[in-house]
Amino acid sequence: MVGWGFPSTLPIHNRIPMYDGLTGSYRFACPARGEVSVRLSRFLALARLPGASHPAVYEVTFACDCGCEHEGLVTHDELDWAPLAGSGSPFLNVMTDRLEASSAELLEAAARRIQAGEWPWSFFCYSEERPRPVFPSAFRLLAGAAKRDEIGLAVECPTCAHLSVNVVTPDHVDVPFYNDRRVGVVEHAFRWDPRRAPAQVRASLLDGVVASRRDLAA
Ligand SMILES: [Zn+2]
Ligand SMILES: [Zn+2]
Repeated sequence: MVGWGFPSTLPIHNRIPMYDGLTGSYRFACPARGEVSVRLSRFLALARLPGASHPAVYEVTFACDCGCEHEGLVTHDELDWAPLAGSGSPFLNVMTDRLEASSAELLEAAARRIQAGEWPWSFFCYSEERPRPVFPSAFRLLAGAAKRDEIGLAVECPTCAHLSVNVVTPDHVDVPFYNDRRVGVVEHAFRWDPRRAPAQVRASLLDGVVASRRDLAA
């Protein structure tokens, strides 16, 4: 059963609609190209900024089409809820500071699917040896830009707080409610420590040492 609470109202604090539901991508600034569209699978690292909590803000490092890596800021709402709000772009009614009706209906439909046990995102927790639902704000590292059909995904488990590394398709990350039936699992338990783990974990991701394939299908 899914243990996620779904807020009855979804405050969107960032007045710039960074998420583009039409393309399923986030808009970031690139020094070379101006504004660029970046799908979740092109993210490289996510770290919650200390201090900010209303809303929580995440610093994202992403692989840009210009060939460089850049940083951008994304709120918790944009990470976890904007991809579920569909193609209503922009999805924020700036007059009322509320989600527009079509997006709200899509979010309610998403909430019903979640309550029925469908997971918008999931991963296989190595420490607990079971699939778990997750939201993008729990993603910590992604790798595999050179090989686009598979990416390494490090997730900080919302339940046990250990880090698991799965090998998944880009759609598994980019498309809500699409979950790979089987994922690769790197058989190593990481205790998440933002000061030490990233280099170690990223090395594992890039090594691509996958010891098993595990079922995610609920
Ligand atoms: Zn760029
Ligand atoms: Zn876990």
